Amino acid sequence: MADGKLREAEVYMHHKDGHRILVSVRLSALLDKKGAITGGIELFSDITNHVANELRVKELEKLALLDNLTQLANRHYIEREIQSRLGEKKRFNVPFGILFIDIDHFKKINDTYGHIVGDNVLKFVAKNFISNSRPFDLYGRWGGEEFIGVIPNISENDLEFIGNRIRLLIENSCIIIENTKIQATISVGATLANEEDTLESIVKRADSLLYKSKESGRNILTIG
Ligand code: GH3
Ligand code: MG
Ligand code: MG
Repeated sequence: MADGKLREAEVYMHHKDGHRILVSVRLSALLDKKGAITGGIELFSDITNHVANELRVKELEKLALLDNLTQLANRHYIEREIQSRLGEKKRFNVPFGILFIDIDHFKKINDTYGHIVGDNVLKFVAKNFISNSRPFDLYGRWGGEEFIGVIPNISENDLEFIGNRIRLLIENSCIIIENTKIQATISVGATLANEEDTLESIVKRADSLLYKSKESGRNILTIG
């Protein structure tokens, strides 16, 4: 400080939480009217790359909520979505329904064409969900060849209609892999949330309804 020159340095300082952070320090002398040095100003600024860090966190959050294969929401995301819809239902009585969807005889597709083709069928089915949902509908992969659609603001009739539309759409589309046309069908269990529902109860009910669709011959929607 004695020579009155501005000085700058980057130093690692101890954060109160224990870790070290990169800090830029600027030091300048304070002069009185006659130009004599009477003190100094030290300016500390945290130059940790906050923007990059926020992006990194967002990216990780996205990865943690996304199913890698299908690019749909993953199970964790679906659970969060159902919980928040249940909250809305309890507080504001906003109705919502879920569609529990399972690909029929998927094991046979794997056994006939191999696992990689099976993966492509999963992606193909997922794309049908995305291209046929409204902005607030959420479709995710529950696990294996099972999917759940969370459909807000819906009546029982419309839930049945939407579920059947998707079922018919998949039935009537196909993917071609190495000159082979592959088709798949889905079975669906559909149900509206009620006053007492929890995440577990609504998923369990939809799963039982799906089971009924399977028992009744598959490529069917059962609502209840
Ligand atoms: P159902 O009509 O009763 O549902 O019969 P299914 O054959 O579809 O049902 P099952 O539960 O017997 O078989 C599901 C198969 O899905 C077994 C498993 O190997 C396969 N599978 C689960 N996850 C994946 C995956 O990520 N990729 C592929 N290719 N197959 C998967
Ligand atoms: Mg299954
Ligand atoms: Mg299945």
